[in-house]
Amino acid sequence: MGVMTESRGVAGRTENDLKAQGSELCLACGLCCRGVFFVNTIDPEDYGLSPSRRTLPPGTPAPPRCLLHVDNKCLIYDDPRKPVFCSDWQCHLLKQLLRNAVTLESAKDIVAEITRLYERIARFMPPDGSMPVVKQALEVWKNRKEELSAGRLSGAQLLDISSFLRLVDQYLKPYTPGLLRHSRSLPDS
Ligand code: SF4
Ligand code: SF4
Repeated sequence: MGVMTESRGVAGRTENDLKAQGSELCLACGLCCRGVFFVNTIDPEDYGLSPSRRTLPPGTPAPPRCLLHVDNKCLIYDDPRKPVFCSDWQCHLLKQLLRNAVTLESAKDIVAEITRLYERIARFMPPDGSMPVVKQALEVWKNRKEELSAGRLSGAQLLDISSFLRLVDQYLKPYTPGLLRHSRSLPDS
């Protein structure tokens, strides 16, 4: 998401190359805009837009997903009024890409796996709207025994949640470094 931020030049790749690769990664990923780490409350009307809700599952409240994220694209990507936060925030993987510490190909493979898991868990854990998806997943994981015994979730579904949380923690590190890692509620490796 933070691809508009100035990046430092790195031997072998120009700053513009790196920024372009960062944009490509974020467009392939979109987890920030889908409410995985933040509750997005940006109002499309502030930009004179009323994006289609057809991509949202019926009955899903708008947050935590951003309504300006339509068909995997930001409708105001080049708008100078885009919130600064959208341009500035960088996950750990994006930072690594901009430092030339990971290839675009590897980074895209990683986000493809995380988004695949996100899409799977969104089917049985519809977004809450009041909290980011990753926090909701942590809550469910904490209460997994009750969820299992009540028949609300299966073992396979809990495994998907566990895999999602571990990959997010390992590669994206969305919060204070180590916060998820040291959380008692994080699934064991
Ligand atoms: S999680 Fe990282 S790669 Fe994905 S959209 Fe956000 S900043 Fe970009
Ligand atoms: S305004 Fe654009 S970049 Fe910001 S959260 Fe919404 S879709 Fe993502």
